[in-house]
Amino acid sequence: MMSELGLFCPSCGGTIDRERQRAAGREIVEWESSRQNVLCSECYFDQFELVKIPDKFLMQICSVCNAIHIKNRWNDIREGLEEEVIVGMIERKLEVHVDAGEIKWGFSLKEIDKKTKQIDCKFEGEVRGREIVETKKIEIEIIREICEICRKKSGGYYAGEIQIRSAARVPTEKEKNRAVEIANSIVAKRKEMGDRNDFISKIIEKKEGIDIRISTSKLGQKISRSIAEELGGSLSTSETLVTEDRDGNRIYRIAYLIRLPAVIIGDIIDIGDERGPILVNSVGEVLKGICISTGESYKGKINDKRLNIIQHISSANRTSIVSMDDEYSMQILDPETYHPITITRPTFIELGLKETKVIKTRDGVYVLPNDE
Ligand SMILES: [Zn+2]
Ligand SMILES: [Zn+2]
Repeated sequence: MMSELGLFCPSCGGTIDRERQRAAGREIVEWESSRQNVLCSECYFDQFELVKIPDKFLMQICSVCNAIHIKNRWNDIREGLEEEVIVGMIERKLEVHVDAGEIKWGFSLKEIDKKTKQIDCKFEGEVRGREIVETKKIEIEIIREICEICRKKSGGYYAGEIQIRSAARVPTEKEKNRAVEIANSIVAKRKEMGDRNDFISKIIEKKEGIDIRISTSKLGQKISRSIAEELGGSLSTSETLVTEDRDGNRIYRIAYLIRLPAVIIGDIIDIGDERGPILVNSVGEVLKGICISTGESYKGKINDKRLNIIQHISSANRTSIVSMDDEYSMQILDPETYHPITITRPTFIELGLKETKVIKTRDGVYVLPNDE
């Protein structure tokens, strides 16, 4: 063999087709450095492998929430995550033959059994002017574990507790439900943003209100502020030392106490005023309402200690109006005894009305506005 490199294939001794040598043109110099590159096309493609990829991968999945563990982090399962993880695993391990330029590839995923999936990959590239297609099967072995969040949840972990209470009454069902709704929607939003640490560990119904246990103090702050903002009332926090960790750091649990306003709209309250019971129609700094014995409007600051909540208008009875004798008095049936009684007619009771809402207190029977 003369030193005219590339003329004869070092593997089979055959002549290398001159067409190919010409097509390769400038690359001929580089070819000289590698035996591989002076092989004839048949020998070259005979042993050619477009890509190298391991035939097995491991995937850690939480057996409780199905989160996938990727690069030291658990990721909540969502549409397309598994595919992204597979693409990442393949791209990290994929070796493409130097003679191939850009390659295209794709895959399909098959579930073999609970512990195994199979990826069917197809790689396409161009080498020495030839289209090469290669398929590879990769097995994914699924390792079931429990992620740290599920571990915390199952252990009842909580960093703090939001306590919904109210002075002089108990929070209503509506208020308690709304507080839980607010908490859930904030957690859902955090989760959507990819925060796995924020969760509600427990909701405890109590005689005096409701407790919402949360996993982080940041979450406690956010939820308690939103609840106090929407439902009114005051918010105060306090810390309790729970334990010390191994490094001697003190671990505190935070209580977020929300005291809802003592009265709500529709409450009939007695504030020890000679004007008698008040039907509340606005709460806040200043309480507004109607004195139900006369129909006059009321406005003033109230002191929780002086306050007695008689009843909420939604639970008031109805009674018949027997007659309206004059402008100032009316006869109705006592809601308990059904005996006719005469009371003063408040201004909100229109002449000719046949029926009205009514409450009976220690001090007497009162009619109520009908549109409240
Ligand atoms: Zn050959
Ligand atoms: Zn989990």
